[in-house]
Amino acid sequence: MSMYRTRALVLKSRNLGEADRVLLLLTEDYGKLEAAVKGARRQRSRFVGNTLPFNLINAMFFTGKNLDQLSQAELIHSFAVLREDLVKMAYASYWAELIGEFVPERENVQEIFKFLLAALITLEKCDAPDLLNLAFQIRILNYLGYQPELETCVSCGDGSASLVHFSAEEGGVVCRRCGADLRDLIPVSRNDLRFLTALSTTDIRKLNQIEQTGVQLGTIRAMLRRFIEARLDKPLKTQVFLDSVLA
Ligand SMILES: [Zn+2]
Repeated sequence: MSMYRTRALVLKSRNLGEADRVLLLLTEDYGKLEAAVKGARRQRSRFVGNTLPFNLINAMFFTGKNLDQLSQAELIHSFAVLREDLVKMAYASYWAELIGEFVPERENVQEIFKFLLAALITLEKCDAPDLLNLAFQIRILNYLGYQPELETCVSCGDGSASLVHFSAEEGGVVCRRCGADLRDLIPVSRNDLRFLTALSTTDIRKLNQIEQTGVQLGTIRAMLRRFIEARLDKPLKTQVFLDSVLA
């Protein structure tokens, strides 16, 4: 049996059998992985408290036949605020599901680990996480190479001023002519596209400084949501929870 250590963020926890739990973790050095916590539901130990969702831990794993086993979990930072505030919990759960769905298992994704950690720290202190959430979505897509095309028409490559629609199915903006043959288009403005590009490059602690004149945030939300659903071919479960909390 071999062992390995790394920092890890707990994304999700589910029951396994009578007494165990399985955690979904994003680790700094080994990517996204699942690990079992033996007897987690029987013991009321600090170890179990340290593995609550969104916590940052120093983790030690033993490799197992099917599932690796978490054998140590030292708490580095408890994101308790994110578990106690319903709105923040809804955002953090949504991000965890997004990463769970999009990030392949056991691939080196150190950049995503660092970005998720920075985003959770920002969310902890943030009063209005809407922009942060939009930035989170576009950046995760960018990191994984799924970014929507925002510069030229995805159908014909036209980069002129006639980009007036966004097609989630096609994966980006479409010109007026190509849009005539497509369904489910979202009307977009140049300001919307500029804003979305700025969301993907601006320091996440300074998103409020991005120029918002002429920008329809509802359009940005719809573009990202439908783009993500089209890539996954399904809606995210936590989206429903987020919608109900924000309603
Ligand atoms: Zn076109």
